[in-house]
Parts: sequence; C-alpha cells; structure tokens
Amino acid sequence: MSLGRRLDFDVVIIGGGMVGLCVAALLELNEQLVGWRIAVVEPSAPRPPADDSVDLRVSALSRASQRVLGAAGAWAAIAPHACPYERMVVWDAASTHDARDALRFDAAETGEPDLGHIAENLRVQWALAEAPALRGITQLRDRLEGLEFGHDSAKLMLGGGRSVTAGLVVGADGGQSRTRELCGIGRAGWAYGQTAVVAHLRTERPHAHTAWQRFLPDGPIAFLPLRDGRVSLVWTTTPEAAATLIEAEPAEFNRQVTEASGRVLGGAVLDSGRAGYPLALWHAREYVRPRLALVGDAAHTIHPLAGQGVNLGFLDAASLVEVLADAAGSGDDPVGNRALRRYARWRRAENAVLLGTTDTLNRLFGERSVGVAAARRLGLALVSSQPAVRRALVRRALGLAGDLPAIVSIPGSPQ
Ligand SMILES: Cc1cc2nc3c(=O)[nH]c(=O)nc-3n(C[C@H](O)[C@H](O)[C@H](O)COP(=O)(O)OP(=O)(O)OC[C@H]3O[C@@H](n4cnc5c(N)ncnc54)[C@H](O)[C@@H]3O)c2cc1C
Repeated sequence: MSLGRRLDFDVVIIGGGMVGLCVAALLELNEQLVGWRIAVVEPSAPRPPADDSVDLRVSALSRASQRVLGAAGAWAAIAPHACPYERMVVWDAASTHDARDALRFDAAETGEPDLGHIAENLRVQWALAEAPALRGITQLRDRLEGLEFGHDSAKLMLGGGRSVTAGLVVGADGGQSRTRELCGIGRAGWAYGQTAVVAHLRTERPHAHTAWQRFLPDGPIAFLPLRDGRVSLVWTTTPEAAATLIEAEPAEFNRQVTEASGRVLGGAVLDSGRAGYPLALWHAREYVRPRLALVGDAAHTIHPLAGQGVNLGFLDAASLVEVLADAAGSGDDPVGNRALRRYARWRRAENAVLLGTTDTLNRLFGERSVGVAAARRLGLALVSSQPAVRRALVRRALGLAGDLPAIVSIPGSPQ
C-alpha cells in the first residue's frame, strides 16, 4: 500500500543507471510493496544498444547479478548478447599463464556452467529500462539539484525548476553522486593514480571463453571474452602511460598490448575506439539518513581488477528492496529508520570486505621489491594447489558468498 497520498511519490530514485533502474524494477515487482508510486530522475534517456556491434563499456556480471537481473525481469533480454566465461586465469608478470603459480579457476570444477557473463553496460541498462516492471514507473527526464528533508518526507528540487515530494529518496547517481553531496555525507578513500584503458581487440588465438588477467607492476591487463569472438581490454596503468596508449598509432598500440599481455592469445589488434577511466576507491561514511538510502557507485567505487563494482550495486538494490519489504510485511514503517539502518549495516559490512580485498590485491601486485614478488608467487602457487581454497574463491567471484539477499540465495524465490 502507498505510504500516503499527500506525497507525489513513495520512492524517488536519483539516477537511471544500471543500479537505479534495478532498484525501480525490484520495488515495482515486490508483492509487499504493491501500489507504491515510484519515480526515477535521470537526465538522459537510455540508448538502445546496436545488435551488430559491442559497445566499449562492458562488465563481468556475477551469478548473483544474473539472479537479481532475472528477478527484475531483465536477464532474458541480456543473456543472448552476453558472453559466458568458463575459466579465469590470473598470473604474475614475472611468470607465465601456464606456469604452476598461475591461478586457474574452472567452472566445471565447481559444478557451475560458467563463472559469469561479460555484458555491455548499455545492454543491461536498456534491458532494465524496457523490462515490463518499468512501465508502471514515472520517468522524470531531469537532474536532482536540491534536497530538503522533513520529518516524514523529502522534497526534491529538479533542474527544470519543478519540485516533487517523496517518502524515500534512493541515491543511485554514481561515483560523483549529487545526492550524497547535497546530504553532506563524506566518503573515505583515495584516487589510485591509475587509469584503466578500455578497447576491443581481435586476437590471433581464440579467447576460449576465458577471462585472462596478467598483473604488471603498474596494474593488471585483462582480456575479457566477447560474444563476437573479440576480447575487451581493460588495462590499468599510470595516467601518463594511459594517455600515451590512447593517443598511440594503432600499430604501436597493438605492439604494446601484445607485449603487455605476455602474448597469451598471440598478437592483439585494436578493433574499436579507446577510452580511459581514472580509478579510485571511495566508501560513503553513511549509507542512510532518515528518508535516504545510497546504492551502487553513489555508496562505493572499487578498483575494477576483480570486476565487482556493479555486482555490489545489484546486491545493494536487492538488499534494500528486501529490507523495505520485510518491514512492510511485519507492519513496521517500511521507510523508517529501523529498516534503513538494517540495510546500511548489512551492505556496508559486505561491501567493505570486497573493497578491502580488492585494494590489498592491487597493492600486493603493484609491489616491486624482489622479496614481496617471490612471496606473491609462492602464495599464488599455494592457492593454485588447493582445490578447496580455489572453490571458496570461485564462490566469492560468483557473488554467492557472504550474507545474500533472498532472491540470490534462493533463486526463483518470490521476493
Ligand atoms: C574500466 C572499468 C571496468 C569496470 N568493470 C566492471 C566489471 O567487470 N564488473 C563490475 O561489476 N563492475 C565493473 N565496473 C564498475 C561499474 O562500471 C560501476 O560500478 C557501475 O557502472 C555503477 O553503476 P551505477 O548505476 O551505480 O552508477 P552509474 O552507472 O554512474 O549511473 C549513475 C546515473 O545517475 C545519473 N545521474 C548523475 N547525476 C545525476 C543527478 N544529479 N540527477 C539525476 N541523475 C543523475 C547519471 O546520468 C547516470 O545515468 C567497471 C568500472 C570501470 C571504470
């Protein structure tokens, strides 16, 4: 049941990116929240992806994300265009991809059909925007510019000069979140002084449905398999080297990428545009305030080396909706402080584990001292030789470890 007719909306979500739209769809479909009036504030209309090309921005989606997107009614439109990957190979620059100390994860070893899917961000966003659940949701093509909180409602000032009221504001407006800024919520973290260069490549040998990642002193270089046979390059390096790579003549770019990859798939040839993304770790000091919750990159940004950013965001989305629905089901105020604090405790702790682990990996592999490099290779060889440890890491990569929302831990369960 709606929170009250005097409000324009029960929930207003700021940001119609992958995570914001996912929150909207899950809210709309939840049986405990029937009748809620939901709006999404997003300045740009979602762009339909082209069927004959693969957009430059892709993400490795975990099994957990697949289940969340399934529950949101979007996975069926994503799956035919996504590339499942069955193996993951990780190795140190001082070693080779087939050495004893290379880390190899195989889906078959854990009884899973694959370890995840590589999907275009644009495709995921479009599938969510086109999902039947979104039809009941108001789309405000606008931008949040101001926020005021009262005792039991929030007033949102939008760019076009209009304002709307809501029972709950969900900030899903990305790493530079205006919502977070307007609420004066600080964040802990730092810029990495690294930039990720992305491009699509053709390679001499097939990608074999494997995600390849070689750790170099300046950051990892990854080849992610695409459905059309190409690979998506994500090469983390210094901002200076990234700028040079983006400007380099294609022949020089190809030479550098091929060499940096250790020729794991033979020669690599540029087959797309190129872009660079500065990397940072940020964690919001608070996820909630009365009448406010932050989700996705608005709450946390993470190094892409473990491919976890949006996967964490989808778990935020599912957890937030579960907490609101549980409160509604038990007769509590669904957008009250108790429910919001439960969401914050839950997701902040889970996300902190991944943020910390990814940061440690980035530092460990960036360490150039001979002693640390030797210990690192020994550690990799040890992990590589322990099937139980490998299986535990695979469950983490699948997003199936930790305290999970019900739609992930019990796939197919009603929300
Ligand atoms: C190189 C690279 C590789 C990555 N690879 C992976 C990967 O393999 N796997 C993975 O899980 N993650 C990956 N990520 C992370 C992933 O891209 C992000 O976590 C994800 O895009 C965040 O989604 P979001 O919806 O939270 O935010 P965004 O995608 O940033 O969306 C925010 C939305 O809010 C809107 N907005 C902004 N300001 C306002 C405002 N004032 N009012 C209204 N709307 C507003 C914007 O227009 C935008 O649509 C990678 C990131 C990088 C940089």
